[in-house]
Amino acid sequence: MNSEIYKFTSFTTSNCYVLRPFGNEICIFVDLPPDLTEPLDYVNKNNLSIGGALVTHGHFDHALGMSLFPSNIFMNLEDEFLARNPQEQIAMFTNNNFQAEQFNGEIKDINEIPYQFIKSHHNPGHTAGSTSFEFPELGIIFTGDFVFKESIGRTDLKTGNHSEMISSIKNVFTNFNPDYEILPGHGDSEKVSIISKDNIFIREYIND
Ligand SMILES: [Zn+2]
Repeated sequence: MNSEIYKFTSFTTSNCYVLRPFGNEICIFVDLPPDLTEPLDYVNKNNLSIGGALVTHGHFDHALGMSLFPSNIFMNLEDEFLARNPQEQIAMFTNNNFQAEQFNGEIKDINEIPYQFIKSHHNPGHTAGSTSFEFPELGIIFTGDFVFKESIGRTDLKTGNHSEMISSIKNVFTNFNPDYEILPGHGDSEKVSIISKDNIFIREYIND
């Protein structure tokens, strides 16, 4: 499949992906970190048109770029409150030195995503609305802060829930195609089969 994926890592360490699913001029963003200038420059330089953004969850390091984004934004609306109220999250990381602007634009629910080639998986635990986005034709899954290469998302922040995380791993992650590549919200990509074998958190919860 002739797809292209551009990965931009934010100063917050979160990943923003710009995906050209079929190698054409339409691109889709996955996650919108605060510093969105570089991925938007990439879009302009390559004369791409933006088909929308898939936001894996409402934390500011994945969603604060919403105010800079010129197209449709899709998110599980269980996380809309987090996305629209980032100040408390930001305060934890910056000693309240940074004041975020309130986002008043539209956020669409993931069931309004107009593309048949995207499958979404609700995997609560890190946040109530955490969602993975799968592109079966490309063999890739964007997991946000659900599953990383060597760890899993923390569950001690607002709407986080440890037992939901465990059941998401048992009921969602274990159904992922072992040959697919995980593209997480932080850090490097890795194959599902390798993560199942080498990620000690995943291994523990799958086997307990
Ligand atoms: Zn997060």
